[in-house]
Amino acid sequence: MRQSQAVWPDIGAYVAARAPTEPVWLFSPRVLHETARRYLEGFPGLVSYAVKANPDEAVLSNLAGAGVRAFDVASPEEIRLLRRLLPEAALHYNNPVRSREELAFAARRGVRSFAVDCSEELDRLAATVEPGACEASVRFKLPVSGAAYDFGGKFGAPPEVAAELLRRAGAAGFRPSLIFHPGTQCTEPQAWAAHVAQAARIAARAGVALHRLNVGGGFPVPRGEAGAPAPGDVFSAVAEAVARHFGPDAPALVCEPGRGLVAESFVLLVRVRARRGAQELFLNDGIYGGLAEWRDIGPSNRLVVLGRSGRPLQGGRLRRHILHGPTCDSIDRLPGSYLLPDSVQEGDYLVFPGQGAYSRVLATRFNGYGPRRVETVARFGL
Ligand SMILES: *Cc1c(COP(=O)(O)O)cnc(C)c1O
Repeated sequence: MRQSQAVWPDIGAYVAARAPTEPVWLFSPRVLHETARRYLEGFPGLVSYAVKANPDEAVLSNLAGAGVRAFDVASPEEIRLLRRLLPEAALHYNNPVRSREELAFAARRGVRSFAVDCSEELDRLAATVEPGACEASVRFKLPVSGAAYDFGGKFGAPPEVAAELLRRAGAAGFRPSLIFHPGTQCTEPQAWAAHVAQAARIAARAGVALHRLNVGGGFPVPRGEAGAPAPGDVFSAVAEAVARHFGPDAPALVCEPGRGLVAESFVLLVRVRARRGAQELFLNDGIYGGLAEWRDIGPSNRLVVLGRSGRPLQGGRLRRHILHGPTCDSIDRLPGSYLLPDSVQEGDYLVFPGQGAYSRVLATRFNGYGPRRVETVARFGL
């Protein structure tokens, strides 16, 4: 990864000065800071960052600078990274399937919180770590509602199984907690409320006082025509549901956003390599690069077109365009079609906002393409 020292005032200034021919991520630490403060001040509990969404060192250190002290890690590599950068951080290992070696590694590095979603995982955990000092968070699932895709497809115990696991975790001496994930990019605050209600039923059925309730990630960012609820709407839905279903026995709360914390702090700047006819544009990045996730979660309508000068493109009628990536693969095409001025031409730029999550980590070098450069901007100025 190449990163220059300069901080550009905004995207337009960078384009005007450099006219980049390769795709570039533009990172605004200020936007990241402001987003983190919104979560830290608004969420009624601990905010833990799901590192997998974007493990850039600049992201982690800026989150720490804003006051984030806890991190959800998915692998030994992420544990190593966090222990090197932020040795004092609280780490939660909430990927519910780990090999014995991975568990032992995490325990040696001071991880004291683990998700489990079946009895075999609970047994493995009990055989590896000292239960007394450890939290076992039982991951449960409900039928998916409102999310971009179903996280329960792979992980999570149905409520009856979760109640039995929770009871066993408590009896084994773990701090018994519950965790859920409503699905990434979940646009229905009521999905959190429904899970909180179910968590209260599971705890009652198990006869266990919860140590903590982790309400997951899944916080949405604006993508489609309808936009997305603000994080505050989800915080309120969670707080109301906890008060209603747990009453005075409310557990301490944790949330672990990935996308919601980092998405808005990066944009991807892409150049038009060629136009073919009235409708087709060939870009210098696509679904094998920084836009990999679009294949799974669909298009966003938040595109901005800049001319070579770095200023928004003037003139032209809006027309539906098909956007192709740079590789020789015919599936390297963004899903759907995009309303853009028909004056867009070779050498112009498309800005994709909200590309801070699941973008840098998923970008490949297929065909010798894929973005590498990151530049820092004070603000985006779109
Ligand atoms: C991926 C993941 C998250 C973050 O999800 P987002 O949708 O990016 O907020 C949080 N917790 C766990 C266990 C995850 O696997």
